[in-house]
Amino acid sequence: MRLIRNFLSGLTVLAVLAVLIFTFWMRDRYVVPVMTYHHVSDAASGRSLNNVTPWSFARQMKFLKKHHYHVISFDDLVDDLKKGRVFARDTVVIQFDDGYEDNYTNAFPVLKKHHLPAMEFLISDKVGTPGFLTWDQVREMDARGFKAGAHTRHHVYLPDVSPDVARDEIFGSKKIIEEHLGHAIDYFCYPSGGFTEEVKGAVQEAGFKAAVTTNRGQDRLNRDLFAFKRVRMKDGDNALILWAKLSGYYNFFRKTKDAY
Ligand SMILES: [Zn+2]
Repeated sequence: MRLIRNFLSGLTVLAVLAVLIFTFWMRDRYVVPVMTYHHVSDAASGRSLNNVTPWSFARQMKFLKKHHYHVISFDDLVDDLKKGRVFARDTVVIQFDDGYEDNYTNAFPVLKKHHLPAMEFLISDKVGTPGFLTWDQVREMDARGFKAGAHTRHHVYLPDVSPDVARDEIFGSKKIIEEHLGHAIDYFCYPSGGFTEEVKGAVQEAGFKAAVTTNRGQDRLNRDLFAFKRVRMKDGDNALILWAKLSGYYNFFRKTKDAY
């Protein structure tokens, strides 16, 4: 009898230890999910991987509200990461790439309605051309918490162009957006997520505080502020997928791609 009792209490101690170690492991590996969108439109419905319909987008924002996610700005996330803050498990960031006009018509009203901060990475030389945001729209969004970031001048794949062209795309987009908005642009997004150490160096030298990629590089924990992984949001994401994508452990369940 005593042998069984000892065995059972030993097992309990082991189980408690395992739970503690696992909790500690989890705590250390939680990554604030950065939700990424491109088009929010009916036009490309069902055809493009980069499109979420306005209906789905509204549903996903409602999901955040309903489940009390804490949506913070990317600026706050970067600041808090630098301070070594431990985040609550319900923290998320919302971002958009490319600066499509439908983001103003279909996403901005929903974000305003729910008071959700977001960031739009602009291809500076596309602003004001058909299908893209105008500078007036960018200024209005930026003033209302839908902050502008830089996504090069022409959306070139940076690892494939010469260092001079890459620098012009990186430094140039920052300067152009800053001239139009009248304040510093602190965040950069690599087109198609691709970067090299040299590209990363140029982004740092340009004065950006952080840079985001897609699912590239091996840094699953987002410790590198200049290789920040994000989560691509899709039209068909149901509640279960949303829950998994926003769990903070999604990076551990997907295959990473090389940076270049
Ligand atoms: Zn892009």
